[in-house]
Amino acid sequence: MSRTVIPLVGAAVVGAVVVACMSGGNGASAQAPAAATNQYVVNDSHFHLTNYVQEGTKIQDFVKIMGTKVGRVALFGIPLQQQWSYGNTGDFAPTYYLQTDAPLYYYSFTDAFIAMAYRSLPPADQARFDPMITGFNPADMYAADHIRRVLTTFPGVFSGIGEFTIHKEFVSSKIAGETASLLNPALDRLLDFAGESGLVAIMHNDVDMPFPKPGQDPYQVTQLRDLVKRHPRTTIIWAHAGLGRVVRPVKDQLDILERGLSNPDLKNLYIDLSWDEVAKYVVASPDAIKATADLIVKHPDRFLFGTDEVAPSDQQKYLKVYDMYAPLFAALPSDVSEKVRKGNYERLFDEARRKVRAWERANVPQAGGRG
Ligand SMILES: [Zn+2]
Repeated sequence: MSRTVIPLVGAAVVGAVVVACMSGGNGASAQAPAAATNQYVVNDSHFHLTNYVQEGTKIQDFVKIMGTKVGRVALFGIPLQQQWSYGNTGDFAPTYYLQTDAPLYYYSFTDAFIAMAYRSLPPADQARFDPMITGFNPADMYAADHIRRVLTTFPGVFSGIGEFTIHKEFVSSKIAGETASLLNPALDRLLDFAGESGLVAIMHNDVDMPFPKPGQDPYQVTQLRDLVKRHPRTTIIWAHAGLGRVVRPVKDQLDILERGLSNPDLKNLYIDLSWDEVAKYVVASPDAIKATADLIVKHPDRFLFGTDEVAPSDQQKYLKVYDMYAPLFAALPSDVSEKVRKGNYERLFDEARRKVRAWERANVPQAGGRG
């Protein structure tokens, strides 16, 4: 069942074309090798191709938007669909969760949509994407089975799961059905499967509730620590460093991150700096920039740049967050800046590709039987 292993890093496009020809281009598990990203300025570890009503940018157009600036992108839709409830908003069709009181619900078709979008690309473009599985309910014990089913239905495509959400201001409470929780064994089950199969997990979990009482310890922090500790084999990227629109850097936010990153039991924990709401706080003052830069320099392998853009229409909009972070990148030594912008992404996602393809060869008959 073995096949020639194509080097993942720095492989020439020509290699990608050869692999595509070998595999018949029909989605067998030999994925296009990762694109060499030397000539690009940044990789994006957090990108939504579609919005809360499952509409977005055509992937071919998005490749043009990435252009010569963005090398690789962790690609996902949004697992939640905003219901258009006529009784609530009448003829107004909401496209964002803040525009209506109607609930959100899990929309599993997003995974098939993302897989088909990826497969519509030529191999050289596929090499620039790491598609992610998001269309599951993390409060459902069957969530892990959904993830496994997506891998077996679309072998050779996915590198990770997420962005999925446990606690998120204004969102969690709008989701129909049981509220997600860091304590739910359904979450343990799906993170176990991610560890077994090599899928990177991008998880959104606010570090606190929007309006805590003064002096109230954020219970999410200890729950999150224990969760990450329970899954040492699973690479977990904490989206937005735990911040939100109104969940602001609590006074000791950087201390919380520092404690987490220094904890030898949490070596599998990584932080993404995506979302303009986060960039806004980081670059708010010279002090904030310096404090953040100091923390990153202490843990240069643990931070990833991401945009968290949703279905952008042009490169300027897409790179808004990147541009906002210019003062932070300038405050970092160049080798550290390079890791945050590109190197850490490549290390984590190359590893995920390698492991997930190996899992597929072992567990999906049509993925291992060729070549
Ligand atoms: Zn996001």
